[in-house]
Amino acid sequence: MKENMPMIIGKISENEKKIKFSIEIHCTSCGKKVPGGLKTGERYYQTDTFKKELKDFKKNYLCGICRDKKRLEKH
Ligand SMILES: [Zn+2]
Repeated sequence: MKENMPMIIGKISENEKKIKFSIEIHCTSCGKKVPGGLKTGERYYQTDTFKKELKDFKKNYLCGICRDKKRLEKH
């Protein structure tokens, strides 16, 4: 499934260790639970910027189906 691919949050420098983590994400439109595999850089992980970005990410998240729907509605 496409949605299981880890998404990248924040910045990862080229030689930086990557942190993989998963969170529960709910689609903000249909409420569907999506397994969220995420990736970020070691230095970025758990910083305030990271927490804020994660929060915004969850707030705006749309599952693949709703994203497609939204795209179709625009045209
Ligand atoms: Zn949805």
